[in-house]
Amino acid sequence: MAEFPVILRGTVSHAYILVGGFSDRLAIGYAFAKWLNCQAKDTCLTNQACGLCLSCRVFESGNHPDIFNVTGTKATGIGVDDVRDRIVSQMATQPFKYKYKIFIVDKAETLTPAAQNALLKTIEEPAPYGVFLFLAAHAHTLLPTLLSRCVMVKLGEKANTSDSNLPDKEAQALADEVALTIKEMDVLEVMALYRRFEPYKESRESIANLLDMLYLSFARRITQAVAKGEEVHHIWYDNIAVVQHTKQVLSQNGNFQLAIELMLLKLSGMKENT
Ligand SMILES: [Zn+2]
Repeated sequence: MAEFPVILRGTVSHAYILVGGFSDRLAIGYAFAKWLNCQAKDTCLTNQACGLCLSCRVFESGNHPDIFNVTGTKATGIGVDDVRDRIVSQMATQPFKYKYKIFIVDKAETLTPAAQNALLKTIEEPAPYGVFLFLAAHAHTLLPTLLSRCVMVKLGEKANTSDSNLPDKEAQALADEVALTIKEMDVLEVMALYRRFEPYKESRESIANLLDMLYLSFARRITQAVAKGEEVHHIWYDNIAVVQHTKQVLSQNGNFQLAIELMLLKLSGMKENT
């Protein structure tokens, strides 16, 4: 998981705005949410979730009962109904099991002014267990009344020249394509897919980003299925575990080609996930 900025490591605040590129803000937002509810948080010296406690494991499954992903239901953005139904009413009750109830609101810049106003009271008089993580590409559309109640964190301000030829958009497209189509591929197509991962070989940060996106693509399918009351296939959880494992192998300098090919074969169902 992503390292998060120093500003996120102090006393826990009730509302944050993480402003940055898509992969940065999601990776950091999710890592932060996971860490906040990590049951080993208070005994842990690093600012990383342990990955082993029940909360961390439930988080990995993409089905954490106290971490909510709030998105808009309309093309016009996140409206007042979304805020009332999915945040304000939820915030009224205690967490299901863990320390914080965390609301991750991505594309927060699309919150309508009415939606922002509907949130103000909840943020102003926060429940002791409530934490908002607003993730946004920019903060121009957010009202000063909302901004003034949040800790603002600007991400990715340092220049990153080594990754300049690997835009997030391409990584995102590749991640979505893998998540959606790999099950229908034959072995040659899977092997051909490896070549599209090769450009990420030289940058540890790029490949970690790409794997985070892939992880999130699978996690999103689970969240969407749950939201629609559809059956969640256990294989989707397995896929998340496979991606996480690959990320770990690569972070420990494992062989790039072997790790990625094995991951793709497992995701395609051609190789058993052991
Ligand atoms: Zn933990």
